[in-house]
Amino acid sequence: MFRRCYKLLTGSGCGGGCSSNTINTLNNINIGVASPVVATPKKTKNLIGISKEDLTKQLTELGDFQSYRIDQIWSWIYNKGQKNIDNFSNLSNVQKSLLKEYYHIDYGTLDSDQLSKDGTRKILVGFSGDQVETVFIPEARRGTLCVSSQVGCTFGCKFCFTGTQRLVRNLNVSEILGQFMMARSLMNDFGHTTEKRLISNVVFMGMGEPLMNYRAASAALRIMTDPNGLSLSKSRITVSTSGVVPLIERLGKEFPGIGLAISLHASNNKTRSEIVPINQQWPIEELIKTCIEFSKLNTNKITIDKPEKIKEFASIIANAGLKVTIRQSRGQDILAACGQLKTESVKVKKTLPPQLATISE
Ligand code: SF4
Repeated sequence: MFRRCYKLLTGSGCGGGCSSNTINTLNNINIGVASPVVATPKKTKNLIGISKEDLTKQLTELGDFQSYRIDQIWSWIYNKGQKNIDNFSNLSNVQKSLLKEYYHIDYGTLDSDQLSKDGTRKILVGFSGDQVETVFIPEARRGTLCVSSQVGCTFGCKFCFTGTQRLVRNLNVSEILGQFMMARSLMNDFGHTTEKRLISNVVFMGMGEPLMNYRAASAALRIMTDPNGLSLSKSRITVSTSGVVPLIERLGKEFPGIGLAISLHASNNKTRSEIVPINQQWPIEELIKTCIEFSKLNTNKITIDKPEKIKEFASIIANAGLKVTIRQSRGQDILAACGQLKTESVKVKKTLPPQLATISE
């Protein structure tokens, strides 16, 4: 057996080392023209959305990364909003090169950016050919970002424009967080202290039912609430659901202090089942029962979304021992208000993959 010498095959210079016998043997063999070696580009992972535990494990396997380096990397990504790994100045050149070899940073693409006359800003963010809408709602004492959790939705609530778009797919954790990173980047809102941030609150109230994409939504919540991550207090985050009862209590247990919003829309089962079809599976009695359990685990209040006789109904709920807020709609002129979000993304496959037909836990 002999090894092929690339320099010999290509006629380029040789520093020696091979015996003349080896070279003669090679010269007498018709081995044809060597085809150029084309390196296949390595698929890199998006650093946005990788949990601290997974990143620690992955970088430990790569070597040369002490555990405190993970906090430094997270600080560059989530606190400073730095997208260029070359600018991670407290890492060595070797570490930066290793990171670049295996990872990239991607918020998605900014496909449109609209401003309402009331200051509400709606952005359309693209991910691998699909698009979702994200809405920023400025108020006197806070700025709330409404993020999407799915492209389309299976639930078909009658009041909701998203419900007319079939479910295309669940967003992954990078895509849920990418919306936040994109909005914060557009508003130059990185690197500030909590008090000075424009985006102070987050609501999972955009396209899709977040509890039907629990795995990705909860992974995003962990990074949002990690002090080394996006460092948002749980009390500044609200998850909105049309009433996926089995996961409301789990959300409360895993994220004590987080806010919950319920799209109630009617106070009796007959009407609610017509407006919010999921009510047929989990009727109002079960929903209220689980909300009471949730409120025992959480100090934060529950928001009820119900246009008719809202004050009257809110007082009934409040008398039952729940803290209730009545939510206002914003950004109606740019179709950014609750229930007005819809994109052009369409479902390609004819049948729903089984994993999307059930709750993603
Ligand atoms: S309200 Fe929520 S759950 Fe109902 S169709 Fe719209 S996005 Fe889906």
